[in-house]
Amino acid sequence: MMNYSKNKSLLIGSAGLLALSAYSQEHPNVIYVFPDQFRNQALDFWNEEGFKDKVNFRADPVHTPNLNRFAKESFVLSSAVSNCPLSSPHRGMLLTGMYPDGSGIPLNCNSNRPVSSLRTDAVTISDVFSRSGYDCAYIGKLHADFPTPNDPENAGCYVENSKPVWDAYTPPERRHGFNYWYSYGTFDVHKQPHYWDTNGKRHEIKEWSPKHEADKAIEYLKNENNVRNREKPFFLMVAMNPPHSPYNSTEDCMEEDYNLYKDIPLDRLLIRPNVDLEMKKAADSRFYFASITGVDREFGRILTALKDLGLDKNTIVIFASDHGETMCSQGTDDPKNSPYTESLNIPFIVRYPGKIKPQVDPLLLSSPDIMPTILGLCGLNNRIPKSVQGRDFSHVFYRKGIKRPQAALYIQNMDGEKDAKGLVTSYFPSARGIKTERYTLAIYIDKNTKKVRKTLLFDDITDPYQLNNLNINRYFKVYNELCKKMAVLLKEINDPWFRDRILSDQIPYIFN
Ligand code: CA
Repeated sequence: MMNYSKNKSLLIGSAGLLALSAYSQEHPNVIYVFPDQFRNQALDFWNEEGFKDKVNFRADPVHTPNLNRFAKESFVLSSAVSNCPLSSPHRGMLLTGMYPDGSGIPLNCNSNRPVSSLRTDAVTISDVFSRSGYDCAYIGKLHADFPTPNDPENAGCYVENSKPVWDAYTPPERRHGFNYWYSYGTFDVHKQPHYWDTNGKRHEIKEWSPKHEADKAIEYLKNENNVRNREKPFFLMVAMNPPHSPYNSTEDCMEEDYNLYKDIPLDRLLIRPNVDLEMKKAADSRFYFASITGVDREFGRILTALKDLGLDKNTIVIFASDHGETMCSQGTDDPKNSPYTESLNIPFIVRYPGKIKPQVDPLLLSSPDIMPTILGLCGLNNRIPKSVQGRDFSHVFYRKGIKRPQAALYIQNMDGEKDAKGLVTSYFPSARGIKTERYTLAIYIDKNTKKVRKTLLFDDITDPYQLNNLNINRYFKVYNELCKKMAVLLKEINDPWFRDRILSDQIPYIFN
C-alpha cells in the first residue's frame, strides 16, 4: 500500500521532482472522454469480427473508424449501464460515486430546481485525484450545478436570459480539485459554443464544439502555456455535447460527416426492428449519426496527439457517455430517461497499453462504479472515499478477481413539490427498476397513490430489441425474483423507495 503522507513530504523536499516522476510512473494519467447521448449501439465495431459474437444486436450503420481501432486495443464493456439515464444525474454519479439521492443531483439541473445540484461537501473523483498528486482538468459540458446569478462579467446576473436558466458558470470554489477549467453548464448551439476558463474569462467560439474541445485537450496535453504541472500525472475529463440534440441541420454537425448519411434511405439507417420510421424525428438520424462520426474523428485526434507526445503508454484512456439515445426506437419521443437499452446502455471502452488486455466483457458496470473503478485502475483504491456507493471493479479489467455485479438499478425521478415561486423543493421517485444479464424491469408509480401505474419487463436474451413487454402476472416468478434483487439494492443505497416503503407488498425490503 502506498504511503501518501511520506510521498507528500517528498514532494516538497529537494528530491521533489524525482519523487514526482516516480509517482507518475506508478500512477498513470487518465483521459475520460464522454460525449452526451452517445448510445452503445452507435459503434460500428459491434458488427465486426471479435465483437459481433459478444452482443445480440446489430450496430447502427455508422462510421466510427477511430473508435473501431481504439476498441481493438481496449477492454470493451458490452453492458455498461447509465442507471439514471439523464444528463445531470449521470454526471453526479460519475463525479461522486453516489446514486442521485446521495450526489445531490436527482434531476436535470436548471434554475427552477434548487433541489438538484452537486453537493458542495461531496468528495468527487477529481477531489481524490487532486489530493493524490494529480493535475486535474475539465473541458466541456458540466451540467451538474444549480445555476445561480453569478456571471463573472455581470455581477448578480445569470449567464443567460432564459426561463428557466440552464447554463451556469462554475466558480473556483465549486470546481472540486480541477485546477484547469474550460467549461460551461449546458448550452446547445453546437457551432457557437462558449466556455469559462480557469480565471472565469468567457470565450465565444465559432466552430463545432467537439473540434474546439479536442483542440483544447491537445493544448493541455502539449502543455502549451504551462497549463499543467508536467511533473504530475494528469486526470483530464472531456465532456463533449454532440451527439446531443439539436440534430436537425448542418448547423449542428459537420457537413463532411452529414454527406456520409444524407442519401441513405431512412430504413437503412434506422435498422433496429423496434423503430418507428413514421416518426418526424426519423430524418434526424442522419444528423445524429453525422455527429457520432464527428465525435469519432475528434476523439481520434486526441489519441493521435497522445501518441505523438509519447504519453499513450502511461495513459488510461476511457471513452463513455452519460446515457444513450432512443432515436425512434420504441416510438418514444424521449431520447433518454427510459430503461430501454438504447437509452440505458452506454459505451465504456478502456485502453491501458500493456496493462489491460484487449477484450469484450459483459460487466454490468453502474454509473456510481465508474469513480471507484477508475481510482482502482490507477492504484488509488485505498483513496476511495467512504461516501462512495459504487464499487471498484478494476480487478475485472486486470483479470485479478471474479467478483461481479449481478444487476444494475434503473432510476427515474420527476419534479416533486414546488414552492410559491414555482421552485422545485423535492423530487418524486417516479420509477425504479433493475437490469440483469437476462432481464430489464421498470416499475412506474402514480404520484398520488404510489401504486403501480405501468411496468416494463423484457427478456433481453430472447428479445434483444425489447419488442415484447412481458405481463408480470404471467411472469410472476421472474417478476418476484427481480423485485427481490431490487429490494437488496434499494436498501443498500438507502433509496427513497426503500425509505418510504414504496410497493413493499411486492418489493420484499428487509427492515431491521
Ligand atoms: Ca445528457
